[in-house]
Amino acid sequence: MSTFHSKTCIRFVARSTQTDYISIENKDGCYSSLGRTGGKQVVSLNRYGCVYHGIVQHELNHALGFYHEQTRSDRDQYVKINWENISPDMAYNFQKQNTNNQNTPYDYGSVMHYGRTAFSIQPGLETITPIPDGTVEIGQRQGMSNTDILRINKLLELY
Ligand SMILES: [Zn+2]
Repeated sequence: MSTFHSKTCIRFVARSTQTDYISIENKDGCYSSLGRTGGKQVVSLNRYGCVYHGIVQHELNHALGFYHEQTRSDRDQYVKINWENISPDMAYNFQKQNTNNQNTPYDYGSVMHYGRTAFSIQPGLETITPIPDGTVEIGQRQGMSNTDILRINKLLELY
């Protein structure tokens, strides 16, 4: 949260009487709903496996309304989705979304980008391959990229 404070216009405050708010809880896994849902919305950060800088930033970005980078509307120009390597019950995670992308470039280094073997049917099999250069690194969870930060600030300019 302090990174959001130093790099973006977002200010997290302790909830007092707000009707709509996030509640950070130690549930089963790392997850968040997308954007404001109304009322209480849980951001789950399991204490064994989710409490890392990059993962916290990833989940809080979901709460702010950001999708996974590899689902953005123009992703087919930048990555190839290897459907044959994806578990069918997990395929929905790779469906394209109708995103406007805020005039920002596709960002392989986004903290919101999946790694290349996410939801693979077999360890090591690639589900996402960057194109045209398949060696480009994806899936980092160190922290927000400059473009991740730019998008938050661009979003807030609208308010
Ligand atoms: Zn996610």
